[in-house]
Parts: sequence; C-alpha cells; structure tokens
Amino acid sequence: MLSYTYLSPGKFGLIQKPKPVLRHDRDAIVRVTLSSICTSDLHIKHGTVPRAIPGVTVGHEMVGIVESVGAEVSTVKPGDRVSVNVETFCGTCFFCQHGYVNNCTDPNGGWALGCRIDGGQAEYVRVPYADQGLTIIPDTVTDRQALFVGDLLATGFWATRISEIGPEDTVLLLGAGPTGICTLLCALLKEPRKIIVCEPDPMRRAFVQTQYPQVLTTTPEEVVSVVRKEGAHGGADVVLEIAGSSDSFQLAWQCARPNAIVTIVAMYDRPQILPLPEMYGKNLTFKTGGVDGCHCKEVLSLIQTGQLDTTPLITHTFPLTEIEAAYDLFEYRRDGVIKVAIQGT
Ligand SMILES: [Zn+2]
Ligand SMILES: [Zn+2]
Repeated sequence: MLSYTYLSPGKFGLIQKPKPVLRHDRDAIVRVTLSSICTSDLHIKHGTVPRAIPGVTVGHEMVGIVESVGAEVSTVKPGDRVSVNVETFCGTCFFCQHGYVNNCTDPNGGWALGCRIDGGQAEYVRVPYADQGLTIIPDTVTDRQALFVGDLLATGFWATRISEIGPEDTVLLLGAGPTGICTLLCALLKEPRKIIVCEPDPMRRAFVQTQYPQVLTTTPEEVVSVVRKEGAHGGADVVLEIAGSSDSFQLAWQCARPNAIVTIVAMYDRPQILPLPEMYGKNLTFKTGGVDGCHCKEVLSLIQTGQLDTTPLITHTFPLTEIEAAYDLFEYRRDGVIKVAIQGT
C-alpha cells in the first residue's frame, strides 16, 4: 500500500509498504478515507521531534472505516466509520484512569501514531488500544466534519477546558493557525465576555475576521496595548498560547492580568525563559500541554448538533497520490491554505 514515510531528516517520500496486520488483541486495522497534514508533521520532517523514528509512516489526523479488529476490541467492529485519536492510551493505568491520557505509561502511550509507530497518511493504519483510540462517527456527521476530532479539536477542547474560562472573562489566544482556530471554536462555546486573537499573518487574521466576526483580532506588536484596553482588569483573564513562535511565550505572560491562567498549548522547538523576577507578584497559574485527547465522543456530538464546524478550515483537497504537492502547499502556506484534506484511495 502507499505510505507517506519519514525517510531521513528533511526527507519524506510516498513509498510502497506491506498493508498493516493485527499484532495484538486490542488492535484494529482502519482503512483511511480522509487524513490531513499537521504542523507537527513538518516538525518531524525538520528533525525537531527527536522521538520520531525514520522509516515511520507519518500522519496522525485521520478518519476511516474499520477493516478488522482484534479479539479484545469491543466498542468498534468492521464496517464502522471512525475518527482516530492522535494519542495512544491503554485506558487502565493511573494516568488514563484520571483522564491524563497523554501520560499513559504504556510504552506506546501518548503521541505514537505517525511518530513512533506507522500513522495514517497511508491507505491503512493499525491502531493500538482501538477501544480507546477509535470513536464511531455519527451517521449525520461527514468525514470532512470529523477530520480534526482526534487531534486539533481534541487539543482545542482540552485546552479551553483546563483554562477554566468563565462568562466574565476576556480570553486572549496567541496564534490563529489551524490549532489556534480550533481552540478559538472551543473557546467560543464557553461564551466568554470577549475573545481576542493575536496573529502576525494577515491572511490568517482575515480568515478569523471573516468567519468569526464577533472576535477581535490584533498583531503581536499591538497585543499588549489591546488587552490592556479591552480587558476589564488590565489584561487578559485567560491566555492560551498556541503560536509557539520566538516571542509568543513572553507575550503570553505579559498580556495576562494578575492571577490569570496562562495555558501553553504550543510545542516549542527550543527552551523558553520564565523570568520569575519580572513576573513576581503577578501570581499567574501556568498550565502546559500536550493534549489529553479523551473527549472525542463529546466533540463529535457538538459537531452533530451544529455547535462546532471546522469544515471552513479545509481549504484544499488532494488524493493520497498527490500528497507531495499537498505538503508543498501547506508548508509554504501557498494559495491561502489553512488545512489540506488527503483523500484515501
Ligand atoms: Zn497534529
Ligand atoms: Zn494508560
């Protein structure tokens, strides 16, 4: 089968691999009908994900149809249309039992698919712990509507939940890339007093302004003065840092009002400085990623009832055979791209 593969640092290629088979009783094999490219895939390509193993099939955002299941799988069966979770988790260890599935103690726990084990930019994918890793898509929800449930929407849903957003809050989101927009959609569900989105890219700002006119947009140069003016208490009550750029961590705490919650969703490619002397007395609470992606069923029901819709993010669609061109478009942000969908064969 065709598999888009991490060949060596800096190099991905579409190669032929054997179709995956069930290896454990809790595995499922899924025929991938739609997948997507995530910024994390680009991080693997550029060597900033040390855990990624050369030779691995990349891709961790996908939906598909269950092809076969192991003897111990009980929640899905062949023929079911499913969303695949970015995270692998056993469901029984201490961390899984407490909902901290990102820290599952299984050797493959956390982000394994498309990083440490073969992922979904391929015709088929093997999903370990299928009872945890697969969620049945309701009949009235399309593949395109469900595409981001297991990764971007799981992230946005988790990040806004741990940020304890209330109705009186001014919420600042740093970054309006695909994860930023999915986080924005989940923040809108909390109906805070005001949401401000900071994004340097004018194309992305324009996308937010057009799709979500109730949101205020600003730039990194102006965000500090904007939150001081717009926030009721001299800054944002909640800050979600999704950008992961060179200055965004500093902006995150500077834009927060005293006693605010600052949630770090971004995956940085280098250490960040926490200047405790400068922030002394601000009494901030920091929360950090990665995503505990175990609320996919709830996210799918929000899509089913029309409360969440990420289809405007899919600006381009390619067949798997043209995934090289899709990467080129996505990586260099050509032609107004937000997200690409890759159709299975
Ligand atoms: Zn991702
Ligand atoms: Zn576990």
